[in-house]
Amino acid sequence: MASITGATVMARELKKQGVDYLFGIVGFPVVPIAIEAQKAGITYIGMRNEQSASYAAQAASYLLGRPQACLVVSGPGVIHALAGLANAQQNCWPMLLIGGSSAQQRDGMMDFQEEHQVELCRPYCKYSARVEAPARIPFLVEQAIRTSWYGRPGAAYLDMPDDVILGRVEEEELAAVPAVADPPRSLADPTSVAAALDALKGASNPLVIVGKGMAWSRAESEVRRFIEHTQLPFLATPMGKGVVPDDHPLSVGGARSLALQQADAVLLLGARLNWILHYGLPPRFNPDVKVLQVDIAADQISHNVHSHAAMVGDGKAVMQQFLQLLDQQPWQYAPDAAFRTAIAEKIAQNEAAVAPQVNQDEGPVNYYRAFRDIKEFLSPDDIIIGEGANTMDIGRTQMANVHPRHRLDAGSYGTMGIGLGFAIAASVTNPGKRVVAVQGDSAFGFSGMECETICRYNLPITVIVLNNNGIGGGLSAMPTDRQAPPNMLLPGAHYEGVMEAFGGKGWYCTEPSQIKPALDAAAAWGGPALVHITLDTKANRKPQEFAWKS
Ligand code: ADP
Ligand code: MG
Repeated sequence: MASITGATVMARELKKQGVDYLFGIVGFPVVPIAIEAQKAGITYIGMRNEQSASYAAQAASYLLGRPQACLVVSGPGVIHALAGLANAQQNCWPMLLIGGSSAQQRDGMMDFQEEHQVELCRPYCKYSARVEAPARIPFLVEQAIRTSWYGRPGAAYLDMPDDVILGRVEEEELAAVPAVADPPRSLADPTSVAAALDALKGASNPLVIVGKGMAWSRAESEVRRFIEHTQLPFLATPMGKGVVPDDHPLSVGGARSLALQQADAVLLLGARLNWILHYGLPPRFNPDVKVLQVDIAADQISHNVHSHAAMVGDGKAVMQQFLQLLDQQPWQYAPDAAFRTAIAEKIAQNEAAVAPQVNQDEGPVNYYRAFRDIKEFLSPDDIIIGEGANTMDIGRTQMANVHPRHRLDAGSYGTMGIGLGFAIAASVTNPGKRVVAVQGDSAFGFSGMECETICRYNLPITVIVLNNNGIGGGLSAMPTDRQAPPNMLLPGAHYEGVMEAFGGKGWYCTEPSQIKPALDAAAAWGGPALVHITLDTKANRKPQEFAWKS
């Protein structure tokens, strides 16, 4: 009989359950788990901060379509990683956090980094449990992975006490727990699907909203066929972008406010009527809008606005139901509808409104001018990370996605700090692909030390920092006569130097004419790069009709 440690059992069970990537920071007591994970064939990525590690684990999970993991030390390590659990929960993304903890026989003795970790993680997780003995690992890992993954995805936590990591078990005593199969895909009630299609047919201004639940569900080919067949206008949410290509003629992205306000029926696909979608309420939505809702979570139906058709099921499966109905009774939205003309006119107006900024070749750089060159630099296969306030919001409108799951950003929780963790996860899970992280100067600061991680693994990541000297734009010089405003960050900073410090390359641009050559050089180099573009500190979005949370 061969005995093995809890660390070995944990590593083997993780691998069996589809965990191919483990992001973390090692230290007492989790070092053996990381070493055993590598032996089991799991790629271990050592990060510089547990927040970034937990952000990376959830981005990897979302991109790969199954839970990946994060490994952190006891006490403060778990506390730092809570940020990622909360963000994963809010985005409905899976992930597994494994926290080391002090030995069980010292519980309550004020042991080194002793903390109530299972309880602390519980409110930010679908599942939170302690592993009490090595023999329990197969059962608990299966539960954690399955619970995180099935239904509406979310975070899971497993607590690994020191005595369990080092404790031994006879291999023959371990239960043979099978690998969790891909989540079953449930269909919606067919009468609801028929009712939704009828409501779309009866609407004068029908609109489809494509959310990141559809990207997660891998429903892109079905949603694309549905849009092609019905010729319905569609709006992608920030991370729903690319499920149907942004450059599709039926995209209303360039006339978002108008389309939302005028729509009288909305087919809501894997998206919540939260702050990003203005709660589905006036003044941003028509007060009489019929919501036709597809969601995997039954308790999401009618949240904030009553759903006229409730389709509870998996996005991909439900879209197949729609396609079957359409095969039997083909239908297209009127090609000459006034709604289409209004959208087209508004898109043209909005483009004209920003054209002067796009074309401003002299003086300090504004956002739209910077994005003109960034757009040209991007290739459709790049994975784009957007983070910051204006940088993210304007970037979302300016940088197109043609593939699903090629945009990651601050998401439902509006989290600053996700940037480089997400970028690293996107890069390691997509070998050969370029990742481009476009971040504000404040946003970059939350995870900037991960540049060392990027350089250590030599990842093809280009970070572009759009610097306006602060949170929402600071001053061009530090005031000497009074305190610096709270939103202010250092003028004259050289963020590109952070990447250079670790062997990557950096470029510094203060004028429009310098941006393209810098981006071209970064593309030619192909390695870790940071292009730092200083902006007019007063640069802003085009005037908005509505405040962001109205
Ligand atoms: P967005 O940010 O794109 O608006 P949200 O995060 O608000 O998206 O909403 C995503 C929704 O997608 C959640 O309500 C979630 O329950 C749902 N969802 C997750 N997985 C699936 C799936 N496989 N099929 C359908 N809906 C899903
Ligand atoms: Mg800023």
